[in-house]
Amino acid sequence: MKTFDQKSIIITGAAMGLGLAAAKELASQGANLTLMDFNEAQLSDAADNLTREFSSAKIITVVGDASNEDDVKRYASETEKAFGRIDGLYNNAGIEGKQAPMIEYDIKMFKKVIDINLMGVYYGMRYVIPVMQKQKYGRIVNVASVGGIRGVLNQVAYVASKHAVSGMTKNAALEYGKDGIITNAIAPGAILTPMVAEAFREVNPDDPKAAEAEYAKRNPTRRLGLPEEVAKVVAFLLSEAASYVNGQTIAIDGGESNMY
Ligand code: NAD
Repeated sequence: MKTFDQKSIIITGAAMGLGLAAAKELASQGANLTLMDFNEAQLSDAADNLTREFSSAKIITVVGDASNEDDVKRYASETEKAFGRIDGLYNNAGIEGKQAPMIEYDIKMFKKVIDINLMGVYYGMRYVIPVMQKQKYGRIVNVASVGGIRGVLNQVAYVASKHAVSGMTKNAALEYGKDGIITNAIAPGAILTPMVAEAFREVNPDDPKAAEAEYAKRNPTRRLGLPEEVAKVVAFLLSEAASYVNGQTIAIDGGESNMY
């Protein structure tokens, strides 16, 4: 018996990065998956590769935008239709926005970051929690960031949205713990995904690898994190084992956020 046998889990932003790494980890532990992303081509590649690697996993894909309420309703209803229940939601889709000092930050971009990172996570909980209430069981992992527990220079919209994710996580825990629904957030530090590669390109367009090496120096482990390292923690929080950890924001950052 594997940990996630007969369990169905929705992953938003599943086509690459942290979402895809979690999909692999959960499929390897027996989960049936709904993979949701707005990058249709990449999503279809991801699903094909997973199906090849984990032939017993049932996988459906939903192309959609996590900041669009109707698309969120659709990923919830299609999951219920395919698997009869929703055991877990990995509310992961998010964007970094553009880096700029606070008073110069592009307001249209600010609103876009809030729409995806904050409203997308809210809609996910709003339309999945009622299904979990019927089952009297559910696990939700929202993706915050170290930027959800600390300030990050030149990333005001991202920091605002990720603090909000951490706050909404506490509320969901308070309001729905009585229904058997456990909600936590993760706060990754710098993890080597396409999003972070892009951030290093912004910091040093001529030599992004130098920006990465410089950044790694300040981490207690002297390296960046790997998506697989985040996926292991996510799998724990989505499992039965995490039954009394509720409303927490768990840093996965090599200890960096402890540094003064
Ligand atoms: P990524 O850019 O590598 O992958 C994100 C995926 O989400 C992509 O497949 C993208 O198409 C999809 N996506 C983005 N917006 C979407 C939307 N509105 N609807 C549907 N799909 C959407 O990013 P990542 O590094 O894997 O980040 C995943 C999450 O982790 C984000 O919420 C991010 O803020 C958070 N995070 C990442 C790091 C890190 O170091 N990589 C650190 C802290 C937090």
